[in-house]
Amino acid sequence: MNENQAIKNLDEIITNIESSRLSLNAHHIVQLVAISKYNTADDIKTLYKCGQRAFGENKVQDLKEKSEILADLPISWHFVGRLQTNKINQLIDLNPVLMHSLESVEMAKELDKRLKVKNKTMNCLLQINSAKEDTKAGVMPQLALETYKNIKKTLSNINLCGVMSIGAHTEDENVIKQSFKTTKEIFDLLKNDGATICSMGMSGDYKLAIELGSNLIRVGSAIFKEN
Ligand SMILES: *Cc1c(COP(=O)(O)O)cnc(C)c1O
Repeated sequence: MNENQAIKNLDEIITNIESSRLSLNAHHIVQLVAISKYNTADDIKTLYKCGQRAFGENKVQDLKEKSEILADLPISWHFVGRLQTNKINQLIDLNPVLMHSLESVEMAKELDKRLKVKNKTMNCLLQINSAKEDTKAGVMPQLALETYKNIKKTLSNINLCGVMSIGAHTEDENVIKQSFKTTKEIFDLLKNDGATICSMGMSGDYKLAIELGSNLIRVGSAIFKEN
């Protein structure tokens, strides 16, 4: 991807973010995280030059490799993938600014335990399977409040900052909408428990997600596209 392409992609996405957020509320601020899992460190650098500062990866190994190559740039790195138990220590050592995909109490306990050993904390989001799809990770919506509060109360090295969801995998906009609404309702109920981030929306559905209250979108293919 060259710089002209990167500017074009960013302009398009920023324009869309702007109109979607204004349709919700003039004070609604949306963070854009570029998901670079299918892209090279060079592509990340190109987007960085055009102003993008937050990037996310879904594999610990890729996060390690790319963040090492780009260590001289002040990039905020996010982790958005399924975390394998044998990769937890590596992830902790990489100091991600936010881990979006805490998917169960068991995983949270394991992460908290290893964080305590290293005397560190990690900002995390609880992933909610609001589309209720077998292929998706995350806690079921009816268990989300209880799980969130439980982690918040008992696992002191995990700093829970909010919730994350992947929109329903369908063409049916109403079904996608419903999955986002479910997560937003849970997010609203957790605001008194310190939830400030509602991470939802990807290339195909970020406009809808923002209109329904997302304040962090994770955009991959649309930000790295080549046309
Ligand atoms: C890949 C990925 C994205 C970005 O997907 P696009 O459709 O390419 O924008 C967002 N969130 C997660 C968790 C992902 O794995």
